[in-house]
Amino acid sequence: MSVDSSVQGIFAAFEAAAENPLASSRAWKAANGTPVVGSFPMHFPGELAHAAGCLPVILQENHEPITVGHGMIYPFYCGYTRSVVDQACKGDFDFLDAIMFGDHCVQVLGAADVVRAKLPNTRVHFYQLISSMSDPWSHSRARETFAGLKEGLEEMIGRTIDNDAIRASIRLFNRNRQLLRKLYDMRRSGTSPLTARQMQLAVKSSMVMDKAAHSALLERLIERLEATAATRQRGVRVYLSGHFCQAPKLGILDLIESCGGIVVDDDLYHGQRYISTDVDDAGDPLDALAKWYLERNLKVPCPTRVDQNADWETYLLGAMAKSKADGMIVLMAKFCEPHMYYYPEIKEAFEAKDVPHLLIETEHETTALEGIRTRVEAFLEMVKRQTIAKAAAAARLETGVV
Ligand code: SF4
Repeated sequence: MSVDSSVQGIFAAFEAAAENPLASSRAWKAANGTPVVGSFPMHFPGELAHAAGCLPVILQENHEPITVGHGMIYPFYCGYTRSVVDQACKGDFDFLDAIMFGDHCVQVLGAADVVRAKLPNTRVHFYQLISSMSDPWSHSRARETFAGLKEGLEEMIGRTIDNDAIRASIRLFNRNRQLLRKLYDMRRSGTSPLTARQMQLAVKSSMVMDKAAHSALLERLIERLEATAATRQRGVRVYLSGHFCQAPKLGILDLIESCGGIVVDDDLYHGQRYISTDVDDAGDPLDALAKWYLERNLKVPCPTRVDQNADWETYLLGAMAKSKADGMIVLMAKFCEPHMYYYPEIKEAFEAKDVPHLLIETEHETTALEGIRTRVEAFLEMVKRQTIAKAAAAARLETGVV
């Protein structure tokens, strides 16, 4: 098998899970007899469900038109919540053994109510994580919530979850995050020409696949990529920001790169946000998970959380510099309130520093790709010219020739 066909085979496996997550987890359950726990993004510690002997699966927006669920939730809710409600109404979640909801925004709460009403026979556990991250009591409150989550899982499986089992799951999940971060490093440094589509498939499949199976694929992938000489990519280096609970449509990622952009880094939930932080694998696991919850907001700040020590716009400016990105494209899911509230601060900070960025609003139903293409092409052309002008000005300053 050639290197290319092997890499293609691994991405085909990622794609099968990422694009059909329910079919993939249903098949896993049938083959292994493992209970499946569906969770909402973005702060669920899958380690606990794994230590309980379950397959944790982050519920995804699907590509289907919203039909049955349309009458159950406001049309001005984000695509993610409307899609999840639609899937619940159509019976797609019936095979799940439990669903666990965090309450990171108002729209998730609305969706949770409908899912609960529509799935009376499914165990639905609601957990409320503290959203204020830098208070003296933030850690203990987060720990309390995770303790409640653990109890809910114990009730479901009918036995206690051993601390050693949680630590083992933490190590397994850390390994998976580390491998995915390695892929990011390889892309950032240009040693591997992975596309934005491939990065999303790698991360999204990790949200729905068994972690050990996923890590085995990642190890093979990294080995193959390291053995292949990288061809230098040319284009405008782009940083992607935004999109929380739902993965950006793959067509938009392809479009950005077909217009001459190279996506070198991101803070997407189906990207760096999901894999940014490891959990301590020693000591009390609930303490470690609470610490992880607070720390990951410092690693990649989330606008659904309040933290005196984290500034999303400052983080983004630093992340762009670190990845040597020339411009940032912000992908905002329509009606995502936390993002809409925060975006003006990003805009102001980027304009003050003269760092170019483009805002693209995305929708579940329709995305007029041709309109987006025109805007992306114009943006990338502007960034290219600005980058050349800045480099020329810096060279003049250095040589003293004005
Ligand atoms: S954070 Fe945004 S994308 Fe996520 S559920 Fe809330 S509104 Fe939807």
